[in-house]
Amino acid sequence: MTDIQIAQQAAPLPIGDIAAACGIDPQYLEQYGRYKAKIDYRLLRDRADRPDGKLILVTAITPTPAGEGKTTTTVGLTDGLRKIGKNAVAALREPSLGPVFGVKGGAAGGGYAQVIPMEDINLHFTGDFHAIGAANNLLAALLDNHIQQGNALGIDCKQIVWKRCVDMNDRQLRHVIDGLGGRMQGVPREDGFDITVASEVMAVLCLASDIPDLKARLGRMIVAYTFDGRPVTAHDLKAEGAMTALLKDALKPNLVQTLEHSPALIHGGPFANIAHGCNSVTATRMALKLGDYAVTEAGFAADLGAEKFFDIKCRLSGLRPSAVVIVATVRALKYHGGVPKAELNRENLSALEKGLPNLLHHVGTIRNTFHLPCVVAINAFPTDTAEELRLVQERCRELGVNAVLSEVWAKGGEGGRDLAREVVRLCDQPRLEEFTFAYPDNTSLIYKLNSIVGRVYGGSQAVLTPAAQKQLKRLTELGFGDLPVCMAKTQYSLSDDPALPGAPRDFTVTVRSLKVSAGAGFIVAYTGDIMTMPGLPRVPAAENIDVDENGVITGLF
Ligand code: ADP
Ligand code: MG
Repeated sequence: MTDIQIAQQAAPLPIGDIAAACGIDPQYLEQYGRYKAKIDYRLLRDRADRPDGKLILVTAITPTPAGEGKTTTTVGLTDGLRKIGKNAVAALREPSLGPVFGVKGGAAGGGYAQVIPMEDINLHFTGDFHAIGAANNLLAALLDNHIQQGNALGIDCKQIVWKRCVDMNDRQLRHVIDGLGGRMQGVPREDGFDITVASEVMAVLCLASDIPDLKARLGRMIVAYTFDGRPVTAHDLKAEGAMTALLKDALKPNLVQTLEHSPALIHGGPFANIAHGCNSVTATRMALKLGDYAVTEAGFAADLGAEKFFDIKCRLSGLRPSAVVIVATVRALKYHGGVPKAELNRENLSALEKGLPNLLHHVGTIRNTFHLPCVVAINAFPTDTAEELRLVQERCRELGVNAVLSEVWAKGGEGGRDLAREVVRLCDQPRLEEFTFAYPDNTSLIYKLNSIVGRVYGGSQAVLTPAAQKQLKRLTELGFGDLPVCMAKTQYSLSDDPALPGAPRDFTVTVRSLKVSAGAGFIVAYTGDIMTMPGLPRVPAAENIDVDENGVITGLF
């Protein structure tokens, strides 16, 4: 059965029942139909006294075309924890529309570890991303209108850094020329679109703690520079009030349920390559107030998603994780060991041995750089052999880490009991070391870049192009040198070369440019070619999506 068939066979409970079961008073609940609700952030204030639960981060090995299953594991672990009698709540990211119609498909988990209603979650859901797009594009309209109406701020049209956005994989919009048509039709200039999830507004929404903080962050966002090099902000354009008005409901976390009726908060979803790739701070905080265990996921592998989860999200919000789950599959490890995708179904111990350093590298980072306890979740596929599983477990044990077979995709929470027990054990055991960031606050941008490359990627150092050196100097002069760094790097390698799988060593990472996301509160360091507007593949998933006369959707995956 496909993911959508499994999801459509489930009998969801009314969302009010899910809310009641995790102690949410109806006064905080804003229903969006029968199976979705937003939760008012007043809940956080009213529950301030309740101790937080334990925060569990799910991350993964370096992604391959063979698939890893972080969301599936996050959902299944939440169900598994509840199966062993623990009060667990999942905190996930909202899927972006664009990739649903491309190669990737949806992002609501898989098999018997899914959140429902998966069609809604993967499509318009509660409209958060539409609101983010509207707020982003309002700012773009205000910016160009300001220039058209006389440009009192002296904005240099060649130094506009704000783009319009749309939540579609639409490469045609990457580079456009707009404002054509004559004197009354705007100011002609080179422009471009990003996908909505790549916009700074998305990152801001995910990091904002409440409405005043959201407004202040939006106001600080830089949209352009003047002819004499001064930054122009959204506040200069008097945009942040109206933008916040568009976003006030989008700031509220969304409650849904897993196939097994566990509560799941799904909120926010910035790109993990150019932004920090984590769900919202508000939703994570709420999950910690509602559950004794909050299970959350960060995008891509531990070098990207987890590093940013710790160094950006945790640093900026004060959240502190208790344990980390690193998802790996035998298939993906064999791929890292050089086996082509078509041959992954066959046992191959030597390729597995060759690919294992990628997993062991991420384990080492979590334990030695961030000083967090971790477990490896082997996301089971029917093709895995007993010998292959034994080898992964043995290599992990040599590092003092347990590798637990997770069968949540095939069996739901029942298949996640062992993983849940290990996570509980890690949370309960006395901690010998304190959680630490990859770099302390108040260090230079160069120090931060080198720390990430050296202590997280396993490389030697960051190398800045002359252009990047200039930008670094300028950003430091403008007072942004103290912000954490958000690396924009390929997800396919620990290095900046997507063709280097496994665990490369002695490489440098070239930083081509640096940009400040002053509202989100980080410096983006661009390495390699990072896509902020994806395209569709030769055969888009959209071609197989349909809906019958009763409104039942098929072909989503
Ligand atoms: P991630 O969050 O790491 O991107 P997902 O959890 O979304 O990965 O899973 C990606 C795809 O792989 C989904 O379509 C899911 O159904 C599939 N998948 C995940 N785990 C398994 C498994 N153990 N067996 C078969 N398919 C799986
Ligand atoms: Mg995912």
